Amino acid sequence: MPTSRKEALMIGASHYFTGKPCKNGHLVPRHVSGNCPECLKQAHRRRTEDYAAWILKAKQANAKARGIEFSLQQKDIVIPDKCPVLGIPLKKSISKGDAGNSPSIDRVDPSKGYTPDNIRIISHRANRKKQDCTVEELRLLLAYMES
Ligand SMILES: [Zn+2]
Repeated sequence: MPTSRKEALMIGASHYFTGKPCKNGHLVPRHVSGNCPECLKQAHRRRTEDYAAWILKAKQANAKARGIEFSLQQKDIVIPDKCPVLGIPLKKSISKGDAGNSPSIDRVDPSKGYTPDNIRIISHRANRKKQDCTVEELRLLLAYMES
């Protein structure tokens, strides 16, 4: 294992190990980009947790305002890597640019509340389409598009 970034770049290695911990105390080989893989992992985990907490809070306020039952906890919000409906990657960023790709809480049975056994995490894009149309309307739309 090379001991410096320069050396790693020279021999085309992906990682190097200086023997010194990163600024957060991880004693692990660094990626040639200069990033500590442990720090990146932590940041990713934090973003995912923050995101779950964020959509939970937003949805809770929304459900309360509409008088819908809500008994979800943060542990119930498990965000998959891809939208189970459309197969597009789910991005856990709170920025507005890629809202279609962001996860949203969908009720399987809309007549019931936000309970752990009645929700799925799907993309906003899929959720929006679901809310826009009834099943019958979707069938008509599909028939029209395929004709
Ligand atoms: Zn680190």
